[in-house]
Amino acid sequence: MALKSIEELDLKGKNLFLRLDLNVPLKNGVIKDDTRILAALPTIRYAIDKGAKIVLASHLGRPKTEEDKKNLSLQPVAERLGELLNVEVLLVAEPSSDAPKALLNGLKKNQIILLENLRFEESEEKNKKSLFEKWAQYTEVYVNDAFGSSHRAHASIVGLPQMVKTKGVGFLIKKEVDMLDKILKGNHSPFVTLLGGAKVSDKISVIETLVNKVDTLMVGGAMAYTFLAAHGTNIGNSLVEKDKIHIAKDIIERFKLRGKELLLPIDHLIVESFDKPHTAKLTDGESIPDGFMGVDIGPKTIDTYAKIIKNSGMVFWNGPMGIFETSDYSKGTFAMAKALAENPNLTIVGGGDSAAAVAMAGYSDQVTHVSTGGGASLEYLEQGQLPGIEVLKC
Ligand code: AMP
Repeated sequence: MALKSIEELDLKGKNLFLRLDLNVPLKNGVIKDDTRILAALPTIRYAIDKGAKIVLASHLGRPKTEEDKKNLSLQPVAERLGELLNVEVLLVAEPSSDAPKALLNGLKKNQIILLENLRFEESEEKNKKSLFEKWAQYTEVYVNDAFGSSHRAHASIVGLPQMVKTKGVGFLIKKEVDMLDKILKGNHSPFVTLLGGAKVSDKISVIETLVNKVDTLMVGGAMAYTFLAAHGTNIGNSLVEKDKIHIAKDIIERFKLRGKELLLPIDHLIVESFDKPHTAKLTDGESIPDGFMGVDIGPKTIDTYAKIIKNSGMVFWNGPMGIFETSDYSKGTFAMAKALAENPNLTIVGGGDSAAAVAMAGYSDQVTHVSTGGGASLEYLEQGQLPGIEVLKC
């Protein structure tokens, strides 16, 4: 069973269903950051050059109400794609309709079809047959290039490709899989992982897998307080998941048993409350006094973590070290981005906030790989596969 890249598929004159991640931030109908659109261009351009008749599909945000639907239309994306590709983008209002089929029949060379936000169709997330069967009626070739969605068994990710014989991945997923396979298969010791962000609960399963893979796990962000609480350390008013403390204890124990290192912050930047940066001060040690909350890792932790990162064979980073959206609390996160950039070996940033931090710090070119999907890259590392990628193997 092999995973084919788009370059191995015959596209000439074929109806191609191309699942992309065009989930860009919008404000009042204006695209705030078109990185994802730009990233999708090589695969779309390749398909155009090879003479495919293209139907593009993507989700956008999480529409729930009718009002959301107005704000989460792919219309601005259609316009931007049209400008960038110099083609006419025909937006089909109802992804489940027969309109694409009719349009494909008379589709001109300088036209491509874009289905409206897939999540306007309830059946997308429910992976309903009624929806993917419609698409299968006109899809001759299926290509997935939406890595960030490939861990989800949705109709456009899993349902449709199950029904299509000629299928594969676009350039973005190809690169993701190649890089993440290097982590899974390679021996790039010492392998260290830096995890941060708000919640332990989101990352429990990946931490459990990492126990077997990493030499050192370093924890920062609000997640760290749940671990510190598990040690019995005072964490003041910091964000904590009380119901996960027992899991944190269990994880600490398992790292110990395996002789692996699990490092927690040894000092913090603390404030009386999130919106009072003028009250910020540093702690001496790992404990946080009552009346204060941790908002970033402190300088001693930065120093320790940065040294380990710089000297490792391979680093994987997911999740910020503090509330980095506020510049007063962003030092730790940016210092980690710098440390990764200074490591000459394999450095991988797993999407979301950490990718944004690396980009904001100007280091995107100095790390080996910035994954487009946080959740998807973690799940790939955990399972060694994703439903949306497995289904393409034939
Ligand atoms: P996640 O989606 O779990 O990776 O979490 C990312 C969020 O965690 C970001 O919006 C950060 O602001 C937040 N975060 C990181 N550190 C802290 C902290 N010390 N206290 C509260 N929120 C934090």
